[in-house]
Amino acid sequence: MFEPEIERMKTDQIKKLQEERFIRQVRHAYENVPMYKKRFRDKGITPDDIRTLDDAYKIPLTVKDDLRDHYPYGILAVPLRDVVEMHASSGTTGIPTVVTYTERDMRTWRRLMARTYAAAGVTSEDIVQNAYGYGLFTGGLGFHYGIQELGAMGVPTATGNTKRQLRMMKDMKTTVLAATPSYALFLGEAAKAEGYDPLNDFNLRIGMFGAEPWSEEARKKIQDTFGLRAHDVYGMSELYGPGVAVECEHQNGLHIWADEFLVEVIDPDTGEVLEEGKKGELVFTMLTREAMPLLRYRTKDLAVIEWEECECGRYHPRIMRIKGRADDMLIVGGVNVFPSQIEHVLMNIEELAGEFFQIVLEGDILDRLYVKAEVEPKFFKSDKYDAAKLKKKVEDELQAVLTLRARVELLAPGSLPRTEGKAKHVVDLRHKT
Ligand SMILES: [Zn+2]
Repeated sequence: MFEPEIERMKTDQIKKLQEERFIRQVRHAYENVPMYKKRFRDKGITPDDIRTLDDAYKIPLTVKDDLRDHYPYGILAVPLRDVVEMHASSGTTGIPTVVTYTERDMRTWRRLMARTYAAAGVTSEDIVQNAYGYGLFTGGLGFHYGIQELGAMGVPTATGNTKRQLRMMKDMKTTVLAATPSYALFLGEAAKAEGYDPLNDFNLRIGMFGAEPWSEEARKKIQDTFGLRAHDVYGMSELYGPGVAVECEHQNGLHIWADEFLVEVIDPDTGEVLEEGKKGELVFTMLTREAMPLLRYRTKDLAVIEWEECECGRYHPRIMRIKGRADDMLIVGGVNVFPSQIEHVLMNIEELAGEFFQIVLEGDILDRLYVKAEVEPKFFKSDKYDAAKLKKKVEDELQAVLTLRARVELLAPGSLPRTEGKAKHVVDLRHKT
């Protein structure tokens, strides 16, 4: 453990620390962010009404649009001269979501990232290849800072330049790969195409994968390809970046660093707080962040939270795997469809190259759902390949899960564009009214 005195805290100790910090943070946000002061007033409350963690529900929720509406510095709670770094994520609306950090915020983030690596089993002896994008995106620098804080060796390859990436992986004797899961899958495929034997030519033992949802099938494929243990890392730029939660070596849920993040689970439709064990949308309050103290931030991620001791000795609550994002859900002809359901079906059909697929939605009055999937290279070349038969099999299996008929198009291996960042699995061409 990187910070055993915090990581070993019992549930009641964690909650006591959360409560002290929460009360202080609410006051900080109220006194220094006009948006919060106005919202508290509109609801007829002041920080004096927040005396325990159970009072959290009284505070209005914060959403991503609040950050855009107050672009660029509207949620800043400290003088601009105290800010030492900013990051931004691009949104579909064109206005970036900007996040800011003081020196103390940066120290906190670095510690959280070091803890995150260590919980996954990474040590100062490791050689960590960081294939996340560097720049305004928090992934690259977040994973970079954690390597330094932990005292491991960094190989800052960033995303892309795949040939050099693979060469570094082999020659530097990289032991840990940090990347998006889709890029890790892509690297596995590229390595084989370049003539590497990923199990024997590389020295990987741990993978730190995050920034996008991924399935258990994708995990198994990455683990089998590289012979490593793949860990899910959770975070988002609004909450420092990566390092909010991570799977320990037991890979049984993601520990939320609860000394820094208060988590609640709400009903995404009503906003009501749900009792423990119920599935709902995760809402986070950053307990010590100075520059941008977000209160009750809605993530759109749907999951169940468990507060129980883990085999690793930590009591920090666990996210029992993200079940899909509320805004990822597609409504096709009145039926709810999660892209992860389609991925699950495709990954389990051995004649397909599971991760290389695309969902295309078309239609103005009636929705049409197309699924394009690449055929597995070896099978594609074999005499047994019968496109019509395979197409029907895929359509039937999708129908069994989705309860609606998708039209399947089988593609030759390598047909879909290969991403070097996050995978784009859904293309919605429907006319929005
Ligand atoms: Zn654990």
